[in-house]
Amino acid sequence: MKQQILIIGAGFGGMWSALSAVRLLDQQQRLDVAVTLLAPQAELRVRPRFYETDLASTVAPLGALFDTVGVRFVQGSATQIDGQSKRVTYRDASGSQAELGYDRLILASGSQVARPPLEGGGRVTFDVDSLESAQRLEAHLQSLGRQPESAARNTVVVVGGGFTGIETATEMPARLRAILGDKTQVRVIVVDTAKQIGSAMGQEIAGIVAEASASLGVTWRLGSPLSRGDEHGVQLGNGERIATSTVIFAVGVKASPLTRQIKGERDSHGRLHVDRNLRVLGQDAIYAAGDTACAAVDDQGNHALMTCQHAIAQGRSAGNNAAADLIGVAPIAYSQAKYVTCLDLGGWGAVFTEGWARKVLLTGKEGKELKTRINTRWIYPPAADRKTALAAADPSIPVVA
Ligand SMILES: Cc1cc2nc3c(=O)[nH]c(=O)nc-3n(C[C@H](O)[C@H](O)[C@H](O)COP(=O)(O)OP(=O)(O)OC[C@H]3O[C@@H](n4cnc5c(N)ncnc54)[C@H](O)[C@@H]3O)c2cc1C
Repeated sequence: MKQQILIIGAGFGGMWSALSAVRLLDQQQRLDVAVTLLAPQAELRVRPRFYETDLASTVAPLGALFDTVGVRFVQGSATQIDGQSKRVTYRDASGSQAELGYDRLILASGSQVARPPLEGGGRVTFDVDSLESAQRLEAHLQSLGRQPESAARNTVVVVGGGFTGIETATEMPARLRAILGDKTQVRVIVVDTAKQIGSAMGQEIAGIVAEASASLGVTWRLGSPLSRGDEHGVQLGNGERIATSTVIFAVGVKASPLTRQIKGERDSHGRLHVDRNLRVLGQDAIYAAGDTACAAVDDQGNHALMTCQHAIAQGRSAGNNAAADLIGVAPIAYSQAKYVTCLDLGGWGAVFTEGWARKVLLTGKEGKELKTRINTRWIYPPAADRKTALAAADPSIPVVA
């Protein structure tokens, strides 16, 4: 009977965990350990692109890649993790319940948007967190084109002015005009409780976000939260009413609820605290990677953010280290000293920064060219070629964007 490394999730953290575990086992010629990945689909769904219109190209199939490297894919959703008996219960595609055992588990089940309930606003609210919700938003936007002209039809409200909210809002004028026509007076409004435009992104970027917003006609309502909604619009805490048929929530994410089934300390996002090898603190056999893990990236006190930039590198480390632990090889501590940000600003371009203080290096068209390269090439899975794919999973490769 082979020993089992089980990975939950086929996102950035999960896919790279699987490849890096296989890479080490291959190098050590350990045929007695199997790598199994459990997820609802054998697909890498490229969440960083879900604010775009073209959603078909945001899904990268993983079946051939897994076959090539010898990862066993099990289709299903984990429902329960039993750390005592080392078993994971899941619901398969037909809805039946089944179980998988493990010797080492890597939890890479990602995160979900933390959508607060909006009193009265159910029908008009959307998000861009998952493929399904992004498709629902796109279908809704298309349906606006079949509705009679009105202020509510022409207005999109984005709730939350952080990274995702800014990307969604700055892309929206062009998306709306493509559907409603160039001559339509479209309105895109960002509602944020902060006092300054883009303040969550740091001072230097904030000025650029303000400039891009102004040039695209995206306006901001600052310092007042959304208080209620109905099918004709929303109301802010300060009493202002905005007529709209489309409210998009981008108010931050929470780690996958599966994190709550593992005994351990969690941060305010629900992420499990992990050690430098990405093993969950207090656990012998459970690792976490990506949006489920709260991991130190350096010795300066910086921690990974909930980004694919960090999930990719953590996957390469967690897979390697879970396999290393099982076969008695020294682990390679996770570290990711370099941190960059590339924020899409729609038709204005993009801004690229380096470092935790986000020093601006590229803006406008140059920034956009880099953003396009990152989002359409660099974060996609490697080709389904065994040698190339395993070489790409080396944990010592720095992730630069
Ligand atoms: C609109 C948007 C824009 C973004 N922009 C950027 C950006 O510019 N740069 C950046 O670095 N990051 C960006 N991010 C964040 C980035 O997408 C996430 O940090 C990243 O996807 C996390 O990777 P992950 O592998 O942890 O989780 P995910 O990519 O979410 O993958 C989770 C996987 O787990 C599976 N799963 C979930 N629950 C279960 C279960 N119960 N059982 C089995 N499998 C399960 C899912 O199906 C999926 O396969 C953006 C996110 C969004 C939504």
